[in-house]
Amino acid sequence: MINENHESDVRRNKEVVFATEDADIKELLSLGAAEYFKREFPDLKHAFSEQQACVCCMDEGTAHKDINGEWKLALAGSGILYPAANEAERLEKVAKILIERGVTDITSHSGCGAAGLAYRRDFPDADTHENLAEKIEAYTRAWADKLAEKIHDLGHAAERTHIIAEDMERPVEFHNARVVYFDGVGGFNPNKEIGLPMGFVIERAYLPAEYTAEELKVAVDIAFGHHGFGKLFYAESPFVIIALAKNDEQLNNLKDEISSALADNENFVGGKIKIDGLIV
Ligand SMILES: [Zn+2]
Repeated sequence: MINENHESDVRRNKEVVFATEDADIKELLSLGAAEYFKREFPDLKHAFSEQQACVCCMDEGTAHKDINGEWKLALAGSGILYPAANEAERLEKVAKILIERGVTDITSHSGCGAAGLAYRRDFPDADTHENLAEKIEAYTRAWADKLAEKIHDLGHAAERTHIIAEDMERPVEFHNARVVYFDGVGGFNPNKEIGLPMGFVIERAYLPAEYTAEELKVAVDIAFGHHGFGKLFYAESPFVIIALAKNDEQLNNLKDEISSALADNENFVGGKIKIDGLIV
């Protein structure tokens, strides 16, 4: 019974938060992203940096958070889903990306959806594991520890930050992301601009297209899954993928990438996901 009550409390909270965010999303939709951002966030350029010091999850709860005052690079689970034959290869590949970006602060966070997927990738019988949430939590911390160690071994400084659920910029119980920022400009930090729609951040500028397509699918699955707004999205108040581009040509390319990544997604086909974008 306690569980059932808890579930319905979470459901009610979701409905309240969704309704609170609705006005902004409807304005974004009616004006279009270019006009909406020009009007509401004319200084958006200030929220981008070519240099980053920190890697955080693409989760809106970390992407919208000020972490140690540092410029952040968003990467699902701090790289835990990056394609590789095994963990050693994954550590090597991700460490090199982070070193190139100047990242020295490796973060992990509680309730990481990407870490949950990685755990299930590595333990096919995961759903029979006892205390699964705790195991996933330990797994994500261990990944970030090993990544910091790897960067250190490659001759660069690296430290660790873990963000507990209560310190994230979203409710502990669920994701309140209404958008995805598909960033072709590079180094987008939504915490640098007050009042932006809550969204996942995907760093297309620094990551290969095949991989960012996978991150996009993960973000959509989370938003429409048990931990996201799920069935609350509808055609008049959809989940919006916002391409951030440097020019018209890139904007068109990003929109094409997004629509091919989602071509088979039932919520996209059903009109509950919209693609828009702007030149920054
Ligand atoms: Zn995460």
